[in-house]
Amino acid sequence: MIRVGINGYGTIGKRVAEAISLQDDMKVMGVTKTRPDFEAELAIKKGFRLFSAIPGNEEKFRDRGIEIEGNIENLIDDVDVIIDCSPGGYGAENRRVYERHGVKAIFQGGEKADVAQTSFISLCNYEKAIGKDYVRVVSCNTTGMGRIANIIDSEWGIERMRVVVIRRAVDPKDDKKGPINAIAPNPVKLPSHHGEDLKTVMPHLNVITSAVKVPTTLMHVHMVNFNVGEMPERESLIERLKKEPRIALFNSANGFKSTASIIEYAREIRQRNDLWENCIWEDSIAVEGDEIYLFQAIHQEAIVVPENVDAIRAVMGFEDKEKSISKTNRSLGLTQ
Ligand code: NAD
Repeated sequence: MIRVGINGYGTIGKRVAEAISLQDDMKVMGVTKTRPDFEAELAIKKGFRLFSAIPGNEEKFRDRGIEIEGNIENLIDDVDVIIDCSPGGYGAENRRVYERHGVKAIFQGGEKADVAQTSFISLCNYEKAIGKDYVRVVSCNTTGMGRIANIIDSEWGIERMRVVVIRRAVDPKDDKKGPINAIAPNPVKLPSHHGEDLKTVMPHLNVITSAVKVPTTLMHVHMVNFNVGEMPERESLIERLKKEPRIALFNSANGFKSTASIIEYAREIRQRNDLWENCIWEDSIAVEGDEIYLFQAIHQEAIVVPENVDAIRAVMGFEDKEKSISKTNRSLGLTQ
């Protein structure tokens, strides 16, 4: 049984913790919070042992009547792998603590690539993470781009990939940032960093991206365009996508006109409307000349969860990529 700790029980941390709880080969030994708030109380209600992310802050939790079992340093001594789900940039600082305790760590996409020995997307480069001490699961946008790029590249050979990333402004819980009434090129300087980030996983890819932020919290949308070496028939491309459980196809004729309807569907079938798949509009898929076009929506809060579970197996030396991916898929209910 792989013993796992979650440092930072926030948007990503809480989802990863629950996904790990569904695995039969790993166990959550505890989670950390910086503040004694309702999420700390919920972590305990859900049965997770709670630790302070900041050593010395334990009394703040006890003062609020929240049962705390120690701090991050105590949790680390009890685990084989730490999943660092702290806000972007903090993971690099936290790495010093992990190094001191000789514990393996998985970081998130808010960190720079050099925080880890490899960046990671399960379908693209599981092998590279096997036995490593430090791995970085890339961001939600990069994960979404990498999954579809991997399928198209391995089947038909990508010569050029171009993506316009329409980013949700903030996550639903975030009441501090915007924009609330603007479309903001973000970053303004072109191209955007997303393409370079994808190259940390697929270095050979000719990819350029641009991005804008829009006033919505539900999902990102990508307008994706590939030039490929060998043209697929549209139907065989769709058939191939249907075989991949980490891709879900939606059809506008069924009422899936926007991210609102996709999330409404997810509210009915998933806890917290989590969509771990790339959500591709099937009717957007076009094969024209030597180009493929499609729209995909990415649920930013959820898409990286399966990759974190696979990354745990990889760093612990589990060599069978397909077995890990299908085990994770089955446990989450990804069966397409
Ligand atoms: P979040 O703010 O929702 O949660 C972060 C948690 O870490 C909070 O509970 C906070 O209390 C805790 N924390 C703060 N400082 C800490 C520290 N020094 N050490 C440990 N924990 C600390 O953030 P999030 O959205 O879950 O993002 C976490 C990471 O995942 C970031 O790298 C982010 O870029 C990446 N990510 C986020 C999304 C997303 O859309 N939310 C998607 C993919 C990847």
